[in-house]
Amino acid sequence: MNETQLRDEMARLSRSLFERGYSVGSAGNISARVEDGWLITPTNSCLGTLDPARISKLDETFKHVAGDKPSKEVFLHRAFYDTRPGTGAVVHLHSTYATALSCLADINPDDCIPPLTPYVVMRVGRVKLVPYFRPGDPRSGGLIEELGGRYAAVLLANHGPVVSGKELTATVYAAEELEETAKLLVTLQGAKLRMLTAENVAELEQAFK
Ligand SMILES: [Zn+2]
Repeated sequence: MNETQLRDEMARLSRSLFERGYSVGSAGNISARVEDGWLITPTNSCLGTLDPARISKLDETFKHVAGDKPSKEVFLHRAFYDTRPGTGAVVHLHSTYATALSCLADINPDDCIPPLTPYVVMRVGRVKLVPYFRPGDPRSGGLIEELGGRYAAVLLANHGPVVSGKELTATVYAAEELEETAKLLVTLQGAKLRMLTAENVAELEQAFK
């Protein structure tokens, strides 16, 4: 996919996420690797109405070189690109159910989206909770860097998910899968659950790595 096609695809997928309620107002930001740097959604932009030509372009050093001013949460994206070689896209949302989970006092910080169904294991893997910092505080990026690339996705406490992947479409699908699993977990709060077993998870990790 060339840069023009990727810009169009980013606008199309962003609008789709917005129209289905995964993002409201100017919440959420999406980035993708291009040959000579990165594309990222502009600051205060609405995912429902992105103009492909105005999507921010960053060079190899994450310096803004073209388009509108980039999202101020760019450091969340950079932390994944820096620590997970082969990352081609990052999606950050404030989607309702994943954010609801991120506000629960007693979730397991090392596995905050437990394996309720196979799909989150296949598309996202284990998800780490990153402690709360105010939006725009680069220390959240530092905490993701400290994970050393061991997690493809994190949940920012009281804020929302950040998901990385090899390319844009698959990463958007992974973020959707994370949200759907979070929805099931919130819906089932208080119910006695039958999770996938460690053997089930190991089998999935082997089959879909
Ligand atoms: Zn955010």
